[in-house]
Amino acid sequence: MSSYTVINPADEESISTIDHVTRDATDEAIARAGVAQKAWALVAPADKARALHRFAAAVDGDRENLAQTEVRNSGHPVTQARWEAGHVRDVLEYYAAAPERLFGRQIPVSGGLDVTFHEPLGVVGIITPWNFPMTIAAWGFAPALAAGNAVLLKPAEWTPLSSMRLGELALESGLPEGLFQVLPGRGSVVGDRFVTHPAVRKIVFTGSTAVGKQIMAGCAAQVKRVTLELGGKSANIIFGDADLEKAAAAAPSGVFENAGQDCCARSRIIVQRDVYDRFMELLEPAVAAVRVGDPRDETTDMGPLVSAAHLASVRSYVPDDAPVAFRGAAPEGPGFWFPPTVLTPASRHDRSVTDEIFGPVVTVLPFDDEADALRLANDTEYGLSGSIWTRDVGRAIRVARGVESGNLSVNSHSSVRYSTPFGGFKQSGIGRELGPDAPLSFTDTKNVFIAVD
Ligand code: NAD
Repeated sequence: MSSYTVINPADEESISTIDHVTRDATDEAIARAGVAQKAWALVAPADKARALHRFAAAVDGDRENLAQTEVRNSGHPVTQARWEAGHVRDVLEYYAAAPERLFGRQIPVSGGLDVTFHEPLGVVGIITPWNFPMTIAAWGFAPALAAGNAVLLKPAEWTPLSSMRLGELALESGLPEGLFQVLPGRGSVVGDRFVTHPAVRKIVFTGSTAVGKQIMAGCAAQVKRVTLELGGKSANIIFGDADLEKAAAAAPSGVFENAGQDCCARSRIIVQRDVYDRFMELLEPAVAAVRVGDPRDETTDMGPLVSAAHLASVRSYVPDDAPVAFRGAAPEGPGFWFPPTVLTPASRHDRSVTDEIFGPVVTVLPFDDEADALRLANDTEYGLSGSIWTRDVGRAIRVARGVESGNLSVNSHSSVRYSTPFGGFKQSGIGRELGPDAPLSFTDTKNVFIAVD
């Protein structure tokens, strides 16, 4: 059995050593999940709802512990980690309403009665990345359980602790043994087994586009259902008629939250040429004001990067001769620190503009008019999120419709609410999570005709 020593990214101290689940143990977990799912599917809808409410209550009671776990393991600032733990509870509460609302349809036909049922798929495998471990897990497991499935969750190697705690809380809250199991382990072992094992009927994968493509290809062999939430390189589009003060003040949080390790990070700021200089004047103090430091401190806005390897990758985008316009601060000493950094590349095709850096690095480029803004915003293989700043309502709607992206916000940077759908266009993914329809993506529709004569 292999193991992994989990490191606190803020001080590089070891936190604990996690034994990785083997392929054989994964098979055993899948078998247990299969048994648990059959019983769960037969539980009355209202009792399923009650069980999910109890799970939500257990998460609620453990919020501070979950948040502190995320602070230690992932370096998230404590105020954000608290929000994340509360969000997991909210997602469970929201989908606790679903078992009693999985409506089929009655369709008019001759000679009988025709009805549809939303049948659970069976065992669902969820594979999560390291950037938002518990929230992303909840987006999968809450609607999947609500729709009558069993769930196996494989957290990322670097950040398993909050997910493992959620597995304990599920059991403590009374959820049946085997129904929701957390299997810390390697992607190439546990994650791969989810893909190849025929009893796992759906994969929900959030992570890099490269691994997502492999997973989709693997799932094809069994026509396995798959939802992919992949990378992003989203545009923050600022028109000349926007409230520039507000747009500049909000731009840092749009990209530097979670140290830029956010699939929705607005990591390409594009600004109409006639206000470019004024916008940069306003952006500089906003970037300088980002408080980077100890994630345990309630006044911290931005913590460290997640690991030494990831720090090295982010650093490679800012070599000594990089076109740095200005930077924020970062602590010295141990920890995987990188300051908020604003680049003004000469070319629209510089790798800092095209690659998902997944760190606190943003590029700023000028555009000429609305058509040019759309061309530039859409000049990427990704399509996850984006923001549009303008006072012209018509333009806001035109541009929101024109950007090839799944989640857009106007005069704000909001994109994830549990009650609204979330997911990507193009190579940012396939399928949608969250919102009222998410439980349906963990079901297959069955049509039944009953003759009346
Ligand atoms: P990653 O692709 O390296 O790993 C994601 C998960 O997949 C991990 O649990 C890993 O162990 C597992 N994995 C790796 N190889 C596997 C394999 N062959 N088979 C099965 N599982 C395997 O991604 P990461 O570095 O952890 O996360 C960062 C990426 O996630 C970024 O690209 C980011 O944009 C993306 N992301 C997307 C969203 C979204 O909702 N669209 C949200 C968060 C992160």
